[in-house]
Amino acid sequence: MRVTMFSTKPYDESYFDEALEGSSHSFVYHEAPLTTSTAMLAEGSDAICAFVNDQLDNETISAVAAQGVRIIAMRCAGFNNVDLKAARAHNIKVVRVPAYSPHAVAEHTVALLLALNRRLYRAYNRVRDGNFSLKGLVGFDLFGKTVGVIGTGRIGQESVRVFRGFGCEVLCFDVHENPQVLEMGGQYVSFDELLARSDIVTLHCPLMESTYHIIDEAAIQKMKPGVTLLNTSRGGLIDTKAVIEGLKAKHIGNLGIDVYEEEDNLFFEDQSGEVMQDDIFARLLTFPNVLITGHQAFFTENALREIARTTLANLDQIEQEGHCDNVVALP
Ligand code: NAD
Repeated sequence: MRVTMFSTKPYDESYFDEALEGSSHSFVYHEAPLTTSTAMLAEGSDAICAFVNDQLDNETISAVAAQGVRIIAMRCAGFNNVDLKAARAHNIKVVRVPAYSPHAVAEHTVALLLALNRRLYRAYNRVRDGNFSLKGLVGFDLFGKTVGVIGTGRIGQESVRVFRGFGCEVLCFDVHENPQVLEMGGQYVSFDELLARSDIVTLHCPLMESTYHIIDEAAIQKMKPGVTLLNTSRGGLIDTKAVIEGLKAKHIGNLGIDVYEEEDNLFFEDQSGEVMQDDIFARLLTFPNVLITGHQAFFTENALREIARTTLANLDQIEQEGHCDNVVALP
């Protein structure tokens, strides 16, 4: 198959080139993100390969369909940016990489927590500056703390395992209970009870209509004062304005995020020479107890290799069997 990849970074190209050795597929790499105006780059391709912030709305899907595309291969787990009804209307299959390394994302979640709790980002700069004062660096023991995990699928389950290893009590909320989480000592409770009892709340559910702003003003009010909130899932799970109010009121004690609801205008590019236009994001950067990374939780060698391997396997399966185990069900 001929495949046009959008939003390509050098690391995508190198891991896909490695996986393509001996494969019948050919990839054309474009740095440009997928939008209505770049859709024509897909001309003559059977498939496009897109990422988390590519624009896959009705207009863009119609435009790629007009170029002959019949498969959208997402090289990520989430597909909240894909208009599935439009894909269905154009008879386009949407496939994805449901699991490439739950460990990568769970471990990054814990990295955010540890760095925040012990203020490692401040300590690092201080020591380099010859400032060995400990003022403002006091943290808390994770041992014995209560962690609330919202969404206990692949990544949530891995997070439960890691937090249990720290000696934390783990409360869970999900629309489906995961028996493996129970075996690890996780305990399912209601959403409200999780918020009320957790010292740390971490989000691992997908972004859908039902989970949009699952952490809003009302949810924040139900949380323990001083709570640490972590989000490595999708930005839209959190009402950022409400979280800023929670931080200002000191109700939220720490915020660690790898995703942001308006990240498609910011992340994955070097914008260090630009004037920040997003006032909400700029406000978040002013808090000493907020740590933000730019959607890098997935970013390990293992995960990149697995993303490339599974994407090619998805295309192989469609070519050979006409269907794919990793197809996204269309409404
Ligand atoms: P998964 O499908 O294995 O698990 C998601 C879980 O969320 C399921 O158990 C599901 O039942 C649950 N859920 C659905 N609706 C819910 C609700 N209303 N309340 C609570 N739980 C609900 O997915 P996963 O592989 O664990 O990935 C989780 C999310 O992590 C993905 O959707 C993606 O958005 C995000 N992600 C982020 C990165 C990153 O780099 N930051 C990388 C991979 C995945």
